[in-house]
Amino acid sequence: TGRGEALLVLDQARKQFGGLVAVNDVSFKVRRGEIVALIGPNGAGKSTTFNLITGVAALTAGTVRYDGVEISGTSPRVIARHGVARTFQHVKLNPDMTVLENVALGAHLRGRAGILAAMLRLDRRDEARLLAEAAHQIERIGLAEHMMKPAGSLALGQQRMVEIARALAMDPELLLLDEPAAGLRHFEKTALADLLDRLRAEGMSVLLVEHDMGFVMGLTDHIVVLDFGTKIAEGPPEAIKTHPAVLEAYLGG
Ligand code: ADP
Ligand code: MG
Repeated sequence: TGRGEALLVLDQARKQFGGLVAVNDVSFKVRRGEIVALIGPNGAGKSTTFNLITGVAALTAGTVRYDGVEISGTSPRVIARHGVARTFQHVKLNPDMTVLENVALGAHLRGRAGILAAMLRLDRRDEARLLAEAAHQIERIGLAEHMMKPAGSLALGQQRMVEIARALAMDPELLLLDEPAAGLRHFEKTALADLLDRLRAEGMSVLLVEHDMGFVMGLTDHIVVLDFGTKIAEGPPEAIKTHPAVLEAYLGG
């Protein structure tokens, strides 16, 4: 399974909340080794699309396939085990646990029955391996000096980076990031872009929701645009930048 091949395929994915169509028969692909952005105004259905992909919400209609296998209708745990890791729009770290412990839990989630069961079964060698892997990911995001601090004591931008480290500790093939650059300072955004660039070079695939257009345009291979749940455009950044429907959705023309 090589670079450029379709890894994640949404086919007419639909989500209704009662009468509200949050995701309206949306189709797109993420290929191996590609960074794809999902953009659109607030309420466009971006986070809901992430929830459909990761099994957090059930599709009303349509399918999600991963590496040729239908994953829609399974569970978040099964989907994570396939190699899909995500971060949430709102940080979900345990604020009282250290940065290292938070990331080590991520390293644990892939392929295990659950956090509690995993902790009970953990022997010392497993634990050492896990902590080493977590420490490696924390170094990678440049927060080594904060490893032993409670996660809640870090700045918001740093907590977002810790969430990414936790997702990476799951050793994913596909990384889903919901607004990863929100609240980051300029130098942190640059560091994040560099990290995502390196992950892509290693063959990882990334799907991200992001409002910072400078960030999105400079980094991504492909952009999918949602508006009121409907895909209104997709293509390379250069084409999306000047796409009439996109300009209208953003500028309210
Ligand atoms: P985005 O991430 O693009 O800002 P969302 O996917 O969060 O948009 O939301 C899309 C639409 O679906 C919004 O109108 C939102 O209010 C609605 N929505 C999202 N989650 C739920 C839910 N659990 N129940 C009802 N409506 C929801
Ligand atoms: Mg959202």
